[in-house]
Amino acid sequence: LNVPDHPIIPFIEGDGIGVDITPPMRHVVDSAVAKAYGGKRAIAWMEVYAGEKAVNTYGDNTWLPDETLKAVKDYVISIKGPLTTPVGGGIRSLNVTLRQELDLYVCLRPIQYFQGVPSPVKHPEKTDMVIFRENTEDIYAGIEWAAGTDEVKKVIDFLSDMGVRKKIRFPEASAIGIKPVSVDGSKRLVRKAIQYAIDNNRKSVTIAHKGNIMKFTEGGFKNWGYEVAKEEFGAVEIDGGPWCKLPNGIIIKDCIADAFLQEILLHPADYDVVATLNLNGDYISDALAAQVGGIGIAPGANISDTVAMFEATHGTAPKIAGKDIANPSSLILSAEMMLRHLGWTEAADLVLTGVAKAIQAKRVTHDFSSQMEGATQIGSAEFGAEIVK
Ligand code: NAD
Repeated sequence: LNVPDHPIIPFIEGDGIGVDITPPMRHVVDSAVAKAYGGKRAIAWMEVYAGEKAVNTYGDNTWLPDETLKAVKDYVISIKGPLTTPVGGGIRSLNVTLRQELDLYVCLRPIQYFQGVPSPVKHPEKTDMVIFRENTEDIYAGIEWAAGTDEVKKVIDFLSDMGVRKKIRFPEASAIGIKPVSVDGSKRLVRKAIQYAIDNNRKSVTIAHKGNIMKFTEGGFKNWGYEVAKEEFGAVEIDGGPWCKLPNGIIIKDCIADAFLQEILLHPADYDVVATLNLNGDYISDALAAQVGGIGIAPGANISDTVAMFEATHGTAPKIAGKDIANPSSLILSAEMMLRHLGWTEAADLVLTGVAKAIQAKRVTHDFSSQMEGATQIGSAEFGAEIVK
């Protein structure tokens, strides 16, 4: 990336705890950049609106203004807080809409442990993974119909003609969802995961899927993944396959998604980069986040071939919104990924050090302090200040 010293970065504050976690994120980033580059570089933040703030600003039930989409596209890199999913109004989910509109096909979620963070497992430090979740297809594509609608009747008639209904239980009163999984959609995701593993000296890429049951969709994803490894990266099969090895030794393997959820809990050290479909990826990344301290500390990014939008993994947490309680680490670590994406490694490293030291000082937000012996509970903004200190 050709990054100017003062890049304009659009940010969406976000609904719910967005007001609590976005200001500390900006405070930490600005301080880290100023310290790392002696004032020569700085981010020029530009607020753009989405969610409830957009409706309040633009009116007319405008949850996602065109200006916001344009800014996110034009400025290439952006960061956002969580957004409420509007009820009614014809919008399924603002996040899904953003991912579809901008073709943000990679949902990147690193899972790393910070010493001292309360965790339900004995050795949380063994968990160090990076999830590549396909973000635009699968059952999340939003192609589904409610029970009793004309569309469902048509699909049922079609399936009856094909003889499908004779073989399985399929009452008239069914809702139906479609699970599209494309060859190029699967391949481009696995390609990114393998390239990441190569660029970051990781040990393996695991394709997590349910191909044993859904042979053409999830099984297709797995097969196309292996194809990419062999045809584009020169992987060769190990002991007759399907596992294979890249010329630099990185192992490409696969695991059935349900077994994988057990595996990451029991043998986390055996896994590294993970490539998976949309729904599996949603489950796997929240489960992994819990192992290293919960979604309050789980960062993420949504990436297309041109645009990157960084965001926390969690939602708007309405019960604690506006109370200065939420853990801003999720968004701060998303910003750390953003700084690395900009190539501002020194600033990114400072953010990581700051988060690690703030946790070690045991002055933390409620989600951690309530489970950490000898810890002092501080607010979201103060935790940001602790990181800066
Ligand atoms: P949630 O992630 O908002 O909350 C789940 C639990 O985690 C709650 O107990 C919450 O208090 C806690 N939590 C979340 N973030 C936290 C933080 N930073 N610090 C401390 N605790 C935190 O999930 P939900 O309740 O299922 O969803 C609420 C709303 O958020 C819904 O409207 C949903 O559609 C939306 N949502 C948005 C996104 C997004 O914008 N990317 C993602 C998921 C959900």
